[in-house]
Formats: sequence, structure tokens, C-alpha cells
Amino acid sequence: MSNNKISPLNNSAKIFIPTPETSKYLINEQAIEIREISATPQPAKTSKKSPLESGHIHIREQKGTFQRIRTSTNSLLVCLFFLLPFISYQGHQAILFDLNEQQFFFFGTTLWPQDFTVLAWVFIAAAFLLFFITVFWGRVWCGYLCPQTAWTFMYVWIETRIEGNQNKRVALDKAPWTSQKLLKRMAKHAAWGITALLTGCAFIAYFVPARELYIDIVSFQASFWVAVWVWFFAICTYLNAGWMREQMCLHCCPYSRFQSVMFDANTKTVTYDANRGESRGPRKRKQPTELGDCVDCHLCVDVCPTGIDIRNGLQYECINCGACVDACNQTMDKFGYQKNLISYVSENALKGQHEPVYRSLKFIGYGVSVLVMLVVIGLDMANKSDIQLNVLRDRQSLYRETSDNLIENSYTLKIRNKTQQTRHYRLSVDNSRFQLENNPELVINPGEQLDHPITLIAHSDALAANRTKIKLFITEISNPENSVFQQTNFFGPG
Ligand code: SF4
Ligand code: SF4
Repeated sequence: MSNNKISPLNNSAKIFIPTPETSKYLINEQAIEIREISATPQPAKTSKKSPLESGHIHIREQKGTFQRIRTSTNSLLVCLFFLLPFISYQGHQAILFDLNEQQFFFFGTTLWPQDFTVLAWVFIAAAFLLFFITVFWGRVWCGYLCPQTAWTFMYVWIETRIEGNQNKRVALDKAPWTSQKLLKRMAKHAAWGITALLTGCAFIAYFVPARELYIDIVSFQASFWVAVWVWFFAICTYLNAGWMREQMCLHCCPYSRFQSVMFDANTKTVTYDANRGESRGPRKRKQPTELGDCVDCHLCVDVCPTGIDIRNGLQYECINCGACVDACNQTMDKFGYQKNLISYVSENALKGQHEPVYRSLKFIGYGVSVLVMLVVIGLDMANKSDIQLNVLRDRQSLYRETSDNLIENSYTLKIRNKTQQTRHYRLSVDNSRFQLENNPELVINPGEQLDHPITLIAHSDALAANRTKIKLFITEISNPENSVFQQTNFFGPG
């Protein structure tokens, strides 16, 4: 086989049949589809064990196109996470889940517990959007945007700066305990600890106003429960990103378990082109050889954050991060071979088939679901009112009759101003036969709920029945469009 040409792809794509060696790639005894793309399956000739088999994974740092993209997206995510709580909008923290006041502020919109259906729709829409993207790009979320991956890479970056590259870290692991080893380990754990504490503070800053939180923490005046939660999230971060790392993806994350359900033949996943790569084997540069293009340099395994060998086929451990693509392209460059022995490619593309994506049932299904959810969110937001009104009838008496033939009914109005500004309102009744005894104008502070007792009066001659349905309105004086009502009953002798 020529080493600098891609072998023509044939129609040898098959469904993988598990063997005892490959049974570890089964999920809960349920086979995921694994593409076998070699006409003649080749045994692995490398003598090296995969890091997953040998225990602790020391990831080798890799540069390349996909690693640049990943560093950019992860950096953006981490920066947004730390900085968003400091952004103010209309004089208020732009994003804040205020648990004390039971309000959620999002760039000028205030959601109350009764508005949380909107949040539920948003989460459902986000899930469908994730499925929609997964149909085309596989697990890009895991590789490029997942917080677990982002924080793990931040921790690995710190480890590499302090303990050195992959070889030095492996050597340090094996070395006896000396003062230098102790110093490096202490420095690493101190840096991890500080990062974890900052992460804990940043997370709590979404629930407690950020500026006060940081001042309270720095001046040791934070409340007991705030301190408990900061430490709790700091310890979780330290354990997850420092120690658990890929174990979270392999054993705890439910998404890795069901992501294969969303794949179809057009899904781009990181794939090793076995037809071109096998038979693998080491050789010198420019040395003529009958071997395939894989020089068995093991780089694709050394850079893998989950410690797998992608040459064994698609595995649920793969988070589609592209590190092995960059590593292999670097090797191909060195040997003067064509790039993309490992690449993001779909099953159909490997077979040379190009089916339009819009014919995919999953594309249509998830796309329609996202659109439907966006419409639902739009309608829910459009119907959301800035005023909340609940009318409670006086339970002590149905009605009172005065000596001048007037009938009185009493109510308590629970009115909430759901905005972040002081508002002036007017109360009214839809029927002119009923009069309000109290002053119909009210002023309510931002976010305040007012319990406002009122009495309605009607002449007994004006009541045709012992029960009349009425509507009580509350209207913003400066913006009469902003008005809500609730229907209730007015009782009389009939
Ligand atoms: S196999 Fe490649 S893409 Fe998959 S997790 Fe490992 S390095 Fe990332
Ligand atoms: S990086 Fe490429 S050439 Fe090296 S072992 Fe992996 S697949 Fe083979």
C-alpha cells in the first residue's frame, strides 16, 4: 500500500460484533453500533497498554486546530462563568437567582416561582437543541463546552505548568518522596484549591449578590450557610476536576450512555480510517514500506483525555475532543503522509455516500421540537404579566346590609409588583353598579406584595340575584395597557 495516498474506501462498513476483548465497549450489555471500517480487521501490534488499562491517565499536551478551538471555547465559558455575576443591568445584577426573595433576575426580566414554567421550557428547548446538534456533530458538547471538560483541562494545565510534561509527571509519580516532589505536589494542590475556592465563590455569586458576597468573604463576614455552600462547591470542583476527571464522563454522566441513540449515518464522529492505517507499524521517515499509514506512534492514545485507543473503533468513552485528530495530523505531517488518518467523519462519508441531512428523520424531529419549544417560550413570555393579583373573599361574613339599603362585600387583594421599579396602580370594577369604598390608587415598591383590604358597595335594588359575578381590575396608571383582572362574586340578599 502506498503510504501517502488514502486507500479507496469500499463498502465494507459493518456492524461490529462484540468479542470477549471488545465487550468492555458495551454499555449495560447493550451494544452501541461500532463501525468496523477495515476490510480485514488487524490486530493491534503496539506493545503499549492504553492508559485506561494501566490506571492513572497523564494526558500529553497537544497543539493543533481542534485544540485551539477547544481552548477558545473553554476559555470563553470559564470567563463568562466568573464575570457574568458582575454585570449589572438597569441597576441590578443581570443574572441572579435570589433565593431569599424567591425571584430570578435575567437582564431586566424578573421571574417569580409561578413563572418558572418559562425556565422549564428553556431547559427542554436547550435539551432538544443539544440533541439536534448531536445528530450532526456527535458529542461536541462533551469535547468543547461541557463544564466538566473545561475545568478538567484547566486543572491539567495547572498540573503541567507545575509538574512538567507527560513524561515528567509519570516519572514524578514513580519517584520516591523527596523535598522537591513534596514541594511540587503542595504547589499543585494549593493552586487547585485556590481555583476550586474561586469556582465555589463564582457559583454562589449567581444566588447571592456578587459584590456583597466577595466583600463578605474577603472580610470573613459571610454567613455560616454562604460559607458552607462555597466550601461545598469548592470541594466538589477540586474532586471532580483534580481527581475524578474522566471517571465522571465514564461512570457518572448519563449523556455518554444515551448519546449513541441520537447518532445516525450522517453523524460526524472522530474516526480512525483503518482501511488506510492498517497494517500499522513503526518505520523510519521516507522508508519504503508495505505497511499502512499508521506508524504506531501512540500519540493519539497519549493525548486522549479518556485514555482510549480510537483505533479500536467508536467507543462511548470518546468525548469527540479532537485531540487525537491533531496528534495524528502532526505525525502525518512529519512522515509526509496525507492528513486525516483520524478525522471527524460520518459513516456515510466513509462509504462515499452523501445523503442530504434534511432527509434525516432525527434532523426533522429534533429541529421541529426546537421550533415548537421556541414558540411555547415566546407565547409564555408574551402572556407574562408584570402584576400579580389574587382576590380573597372575606370568610367571616358573606355580605353586610346597612340601614340605607346598601350591601357591602369585603375582600383582600394580594397584589405583587413583579418589576424592579416602583409602580402606581388603580383599582376598578367592571360593573358601574358596584363602588369601591376605599381609595382606588396604590403605590407598590419593586418586588413587593401588598395585602390590600377593600370593600365593594352596591344598592340592594341593583342586585338582580343573590350572587353577581364581577371582575376586579388593577391597572398601571402610566401604562393602562398593563392591566390584570380576577373574577369573583358579590353576594347579597337577592
Ligand atoms: S479518542 Fe480522540 S476525540 Fe475521543 S476522547 Fe480520545 S482524544 Fe478525544
Ligand atoms: S497518532 Fe496516528 S499514526 Fe500515531 S498511532 Fe495514532 S493513528 Fe497511528
